[in-house]
Amino acid sequence: MIGTVMSAAPELSSKNLDLFVPDGSSIEQACKRTTHLCIAAHQDDVEIMAFHGIAECYKKPDQWFGAVVVTDGAGSPRAGAFANYSNTQMKLVRKIEQRKAAEIGKYSFVYQLGYPSTEIKDAKHEQSVNDIAAIIDACQPRVVYLHNLADKHETHISLALKSIIALRRLPAKRRPKKVYGCEIWRDLDWLADGQKVALPVDQNDELTRNLLEVFESQVSGGKRYDLATIGRRFANATFSEPRATDQTKAITWAMDLTPLMTNDSLTPAVLIKQHVAKFSQDVLKGL
Ligand SMILES: [Zn+2]
Repeated sequence: MIGTVMSAAPELSSKNLDLFVPDGSSIEQACKRTTHLCIAAHQDDVEIMAFHGIAECYKKPDQWFGAVVVTDGAGSPRAGAFANYSNTQMKLVRKIEQRKAAEIGKYSFVYQLGYPSTEIKDAKHEQSVNDIAAIIDACQPRVVYLHNLADKHETHISLALKSIIALRRLPAKRRPKKVYGCEIWRDLDWLADGQKVALPVDQNDELTRNLLEVFESQVSGGKRYDLATIGRRFANATFSEPRATDQTKAITWAMDLTPLMTNDSLTPAVLIKQHVAKFSQDVLKGL
């Protein structure tokens, strides 16, 4: 066929793969309709970092949000009702929680690739890059949400780098128009104003809460990610501009990673060095 893009299911090689398409569409269709895609390390990361994309697509016939969760969630801390759960039990609980979030948020699909985080942290682990690239190729999203390059969590950084490699396998014309590096471990308000993107997340309060509270194994495990995430979004909005009233009441900050899509000779290390250098200059200038 001339002039149309053939859609095919991504061919993935992970042995522990879990796929869920909440509305029962075929995966070919679910990928093809996806306009906003998040690639995250752990169950609940998507909901913390990419709520902007979830809300942008929520109940919109022409915009769909797809989620990829790459690790198996085995290493999470546990307490309370989950204190004695084995790694195997924990993986199952987290998988179910992630499926519930996809249902609540009306995602196009959620892939849980089930890789141990040691494999994601291994720069030579090609299989995971190939799987991510296959999903990206099947979706060809307009907007992509990744972990940011200054995140404190090693698995997040490793996955961001793998995702950038996978995205760069697409020819320039089919790459996303926007790639955002979003905040989880370490927030991004230190980025200079001209260097960070404000993603407004002040709509759909009930959806916000429901998507964070569904991860009961995490929020009851001694970490109130639900309260912390909402609090951070409000703090980002209020503390972003000392001399103006708030235009929006909640913001997720993002590092603009789009330059890595438009300039293949720019490395992630050089990009982040530029950001850190600007931060250093700004701080020193004030002294
Ligand atoms: Zn994570």
